[in-house]
Amino acid sequence: MTLYRAQVLDTPDDPFRGGALRADADAGLLVVDGMIAERGPYADVRREHRDETVVDLGGGLLLPGLVDTHVHYPQMRAIGALGMPLLEWLDRCALPEEAKLADVGYAREVAGEFVASLVDSGTTTALVFGSHFAPAVDVLFERAGERGLRVTCGLVVGDRLLRPELHTTPQRAYDEGRELARRWHQRGRSRYAVTPRFSLSCTDELLAACAALRDDIAGCWFTSHINENPAEIAKVQELFGCGYLDSYDRHGLVGPRSVFAHNVHPSDAELKLLAAKGATVAHCPTSNAALGSGLFPLDRHLAFGVHVALGCDVGAGTGFCLFKEGLQAYFLQQLRGPEGVPLTAAHLLHLATSAGAAGLGLRDQIGDLEVGKRFDAMWLDPRPGSPLAIGLRHAGGPDDALAKAFALATADDVRGVWIDGERVKG
Ligand SMILES: [Zn+2]
Repeated sequence: MTLYRAQVLDTPDDPFRGGALRADADAGLLVVDGMIAERGPYADVRREHRDETVVDLGGGLLLPGLVDTHVHYPQMRAIGALGMPLLEWLDRCALPEEAKLADVGYAREVAGEFVASLVDSGTTTALVFGSHFAPAVDVLFERAGERGLRVTCGLVVGDRLLRPELHTTPQRAYDEGRELARRWHQRGRSRYAVTPRFSLSCTDELLAACAALRDDIAGCWFTSHINENPAEIAKVQELFGCGYLDSYDRHGLVGPRSVFAHNVHPSDAELKLLAAKGATVAHCPTSNAALGSGLFPLDRHLAFGVHVALGCDVGAGTGFCLFKEGLQAYFLQQLRGPEGVPLTAAHLLHLATSAGAAGLGLRDQIGDLEVGKRFDAMWLDPRPGSPLAIGLRHAGGPDDALAKAFALATADDVRGVWIDGERVKG
């Protein structure tokens, strides 16, 4: 048992549905076997547990561990290539790098860098686009397990319009996915996600194989891309003769365990269907800005009741820090003028924590720091004298402090990270 003393901020109630930031200036969290067993004013919890070890996290903010719902492990070393739209960026930057993961030694290095970068940024749970090569997916699960990261990942598949060495066949996609899931699905904190790259790179036969695989792995997840860029959307329409979401839906791939990245240019019918099926959209704002993909219509997602969470989308996204993604999400809405949704710091924390947990079906375990949840947490404690430290010291209240965190925090300000009560950073 460990008693943590900290200023705790979290969003147990969705701020898009009237919830507010929950803030406890001096909270005590008693953690037993990785689970939050008690929470209350520190003095009260301490009085009941005089002999427990106290970890004093004074001077900063204790937040729920961050949840990233869209990030590409093989693109670790491709971050920062600017000045191209999606399809050119894929051909010139992302896919050549992804091809290098055919070498499992190379993949192992990249997997180590990738998992460390997530954890250092305070991310404790991630839905990860794996590699096109099964041995490279194995090493990602291995590294995540070693570091303790809560990860959902799978083999990325495509059978057209990529580089030839990245192409698979429907049968091979099924067989390799089945074997990976046998090794990793629901083992420790790992789960498997069936992951066609995007329907642009998949024949109907391959998407059918993905559906069969998803049906044959109990409790597995599904993730892919959708409606990111106008040229891409036009090509999908041409190839399938239907809308982007329909290219997945006609194989039964849209459901409550489906997460679609981007959705910058959806039709009303697609938003209606996403909401009806309970699917999640991973909003990736730095990626959308870097590739010039467009301004995410959050207002329409909210109006139709589509669940939205946040993803960093490395390597088109410009880093692993979900504070930066939250800030960029805020910027994008500001730039949309009257159609923009004015986002508060509480909205941003929700998108980066509880919304992601819900999208990944983990809301009963993580996403806030309530009694009964796993102790997945991150401690922001900036260097004295840094702009963030000064900002936090002079903040007008918890909402203001949190806004300053989103404006200024980087991985360097994350002093501690815990997953299941186990300290994995600091
Ligand atoms: Zn992506």
